[in-house]
Amino acid sequence: MDYDKLAQLLFPDVKNTPEFYEEKFPYRKLPSKAQVTRMAPSPTGFIHLGNLYSALADERIAHKKGGIFYLRIEDTDEKRKVDGAVDTIIQTLRYFDIEFDEGAGFDDDAAQNAYGPYFQRQRVEIYHTYAKSLVQRGLAYPCFCTEEELDKVRQHQEQEKELTGYYGKYAACRSLTLEAIEQNLSAHKPYVLRLRSQGSPDREIIFKDSIKGEVKLPENIHDIVLLKKDGIPTYHFAHVIDDHLMRTTMVIRGGEWLASAPIHYELFHLLGFKMPEYGHTAHLMKFDEETGGKRKLSKRKDPELSLDYYRKDGYHPYCMKVYLMTLLNSNFEEWHEQFPDKPIDDFPFSVEKMSQSGALFDQDKLHNICKNELSKLSEQELYDFLYAWAEEHEPDKKDIWFADREKMLNILRLYMGIGMKRRRKDFMYAVQIFEMISYFFDLDNAGEHDSCKLEPSLAKAVLEDYLAVYSHADSNEAWFGKLKQIAGKHGFAPEMKDYKKNPENYKGSVSDVAEAVRIAVTGRANTPDLWSIVHIMGEEQMRERIMRAIA
Ligand code: GLU
Repeated sequence: MDYDKLAQLLFPDVKNTPEFYEEKFPYRKLPSKAQVTRMAPSPTGFIHLGNLYSALADERIAHKKGGIFYLRIEDTDEKRKVDGAVDTIIQTLRYFDIEFDEGAGFDDDAAQNAYGPYFQRQRVEIYHTYAKSLVQRGLAYPCFCTEEELDKVRQHQEQEKELTGYYGKYAACRSLTLEAIEQNLSAHKPYVLRLRSQGSPDREIIFKDSIKGEVKLPENIHDIVLLKKDGIPTYHFAHVIDDHLMRTTMVIRGGEWLASAPIHYELFHLLGFKMPEYGHTAHLMKFDEETGGKRKLSKRKDPELSLDYYRKDGYHPYCMKVYLMTLLNSNFEEWHEQFPDKPIDDFPFSVEKMSQSGALFDQDKLHNICKNELSKLSEQELYDFLYAWAEEHEPDKKDIWFADREKMLNILRLYMGIGMKRRRKDFMYAVQIFEMISYFFDLDNAGEHDSCKLEPSLAKAVLEDYLAVYSHADSNEAWFGKLKQIAGKHGFAPEMKDYKKNPENYKGSVSDVAEAVRIAVTGRANTPDLWSIVHIMGEEQMRERIMRAIA
């Protein structure tokens, strides 16, 4: 067979050679050990926690040794494309503090575009150049089989209990003569371009996966599709060409791709390219209450897989990063505890330590991390974060919450325990925080949360006495002294220790009286120091709340 002629027939317009592109995209000059990684999403606009997990790994791998992390858009499937998706991806990752060094999203003439274009649909000429060279070498051929013909073969294979697929003796178009091909082409029969696989069923490939360790798989024997009928490449072909020409050194991708690694292995070798390192990630899992076992996080069942979920509820991106790092590298947590003030980026991240079997997503753990990390912020940092969140998600309430800056700062100081012996750890995320402090702003909200344990007429008497003796100028001690007096008058022990000694002598203690006031003022049985709350809130609002409670 005259392969040159065939190549010319199939790709009359291809003018360049692989050498042209090899020169155009030279090996990158980077510090030794620097890695080039990439994120290669389809532009569906949906990006989830699993994507963020991998992106953070990619970013850390690249940046810990001065490498490059770039964005490539795998838009070969027109149907899945959503307008604005690239922007969404970039903005979302930026929100979580992950920046690309290069790739889609940069100006066409920017230095960060040097290995582009980064949209696969704009690279068709490149794919065709390499496809042509494979045809010239007898390693690829056009296949005119129709869907029906392929179906028939598959049914036969199933019946015979044979491996299904287009390979070996089943690959009918493998042996078409040039004349037959020419005839089909002049009859405008649609065709795909297939690889002429050189693999053998009794040989294995072995390679080291950076996450999974040594992987042994049977060689690829399938004449897989390289170019679809419209000339657009399959994932397999585009992956190999792009990661080669963009000089990727490490491919972190979902574990679902591991099974096709033999295809990629064969393509890299036939094309004479050096294979990048692979790291196939495990799925994010969660504990399933129904079965008591682990299961994959699912788009349909688990809203917490979506990143919008965290943005809407106002999780601080730094907390998310800390959490994902604990999932990515099990030794991160200890390191972070040991060096709480060191930037996360100083952590010696290691691909080898990534979970092999499915990192377990645990919301309680995330919440604990949020509590810890938020407690390390200054009130101003938390203020700025909450302000930005409210501006985006609760613009109407924002004006109420932030009308008095000093008031909000005081609330945060009090709730964070700033200036106290130990920081408090009540706060987790914006929605929860505003919920917790809502009584400072929303009159109707008082009393909704916890109800007073005292019998109503007693509670009423206690509150009326409280209002009668209240003086806003009282110190915390003087104020509490008055509570003790009220306690004594109504049969509660003014001193805790007396109550503990002889509980049977009292209705309760001063703390029950304080609780009744606390619930009347805040609607909650648990709050920081009540005297401080009243002094942030102001006398007028406090009285109003208590009057409502009495009513
Ligand atoms: N577009 C592929 C995906 O989203 C990329 C896989 C890869 O990283 O190579 O699954």
